[in-house]
Amino acid sequence: MCAATLVAAAVNRIRILACPNCHGNLIKQSELEPIIESAPPTDSDIARLNCPPDYTELQRKFACPSCQGIMESYAYAGTGAVIIQSCGTCQLIWLDFGELSKIVWSSQHTEESTPDEGNYGKTILILWLRSLDNAI
Ligand SMILES: [Zn+2]
Ligand SMILES: [Zn+2]
Repeated sequence: MCAATLVAAAVNRIRILACPNCHGNLIKQSELEPIIESAPPTDSDIARLNCPPDYTELQRKFACPSCQGIMESYAYAGTGAVIIQSCGTCQLIWLDFGELSKIVWSSQHTEESTPDEGNYGKTILILWLRSLDNAI
C-alpha cells in the first residue's frame, strides 16, 4: 500500500477501489466471495502462484485507507501463499497487486482437484470470513 489516492475499479462488474500506483485492491469483506466466484485467472496469475509467500508482509503495518486504523495481517488460509490485510472496523480487505488473483486461482484449482474435497478452498474462505465477523 502506498500513499496514492485510490480510484474506482471493477472486477467482473463488482466495484472495488484500486491504487493506480501500486495496483493494490481495496475490497469489502462481503465482496471477496462474489469476486472469487466471478473472476477467472490468467496464465500469468498461475505463474505467480509458484512464488512463495512473503512472510515479512505479516510484519507490515498498514493504515486503513478509510479510518486510518492499523489493519491486521493474515496469511490467507486457502494456500497460505497470500498475506492480506484487513480492517475489522470498516470490514475492508487490502490485497497487494496479484493477491486477489492468487486467492481466486487457488480456490478454483482446489475445487477441480478432488471431488470429495471439492469445496475445501471455499470452505476455508468462508470460515476465515466468519472468524473475522466474530472478532468484531
Ligand atoms: Zn498504492
Ligand atoms: Zn478502517
